[in-house]
Amino acid sequence: MPPALPEEAVTRRAWQDGPQETVIARELAGEDAELIRRVAADLVDTMRAHPGCVGLAAPQVGEPFQLIVVEYNEKEDDEQPKLFILANPEIIRSGSDQEVGTEGCLSIPGFVGDVERPAAVTLRGLNRRGKLMRVKANGWLARIFQHEVDHLNGVLFIDRAEKVWKVEEGPSQVIPAD
Ligand SMILES: [Zn+2]
Repeated sequence: MPPALPEEAVTRRAWQDGPQETVIARELAGEDAELIRRVAADLVDTMRAHPGCVGLAAPQVGEPFQLIVVEYNEKEDDEQPKLFILANPEIIRSGSDQEVGTEGCLSIPGFVGDVERPAAVTLRGLNRRGKLMRVKANGWLARIFQHEVDHLNGVLFIDRAEKVWKVEEGPSQVIPAD
């Protein structure tokens, strides 16, 4: 059973129909800025409605677009987590160091798994105004970005995990390391 959702989130298809990963997401253009803003607002609302959720991809809420949002505190004392909204996110560089981390996903409530991924990535994409931007990410932030970009390509963490197991309390999108 997924946890109870706030009223405004119950229509989200990610919860009602299960994973929406079968659709390969459509690319967005600079002139889609209005669409980017609308879908991003939906993603941010849904992400924030789920404590522990630090990222979401548009196909998870039934929107077949290449759009992700990520909100994560790099440092624990960072009161204001940084919000990233990225359309057409593309990983243009991956570090050679690999790290294993335990991931979960709103689309697969109640399960987590150990996934090995590059510890650092550089991404390119469009920001919420449809302008090209570049993001460098390390550690957990890099992992979250890779997890969300995978969603746009129909790949789930269970496809990459070396080990998957059931947890009592779901669902965090990505569980930060202790
Ligand atoms: Zn996910």
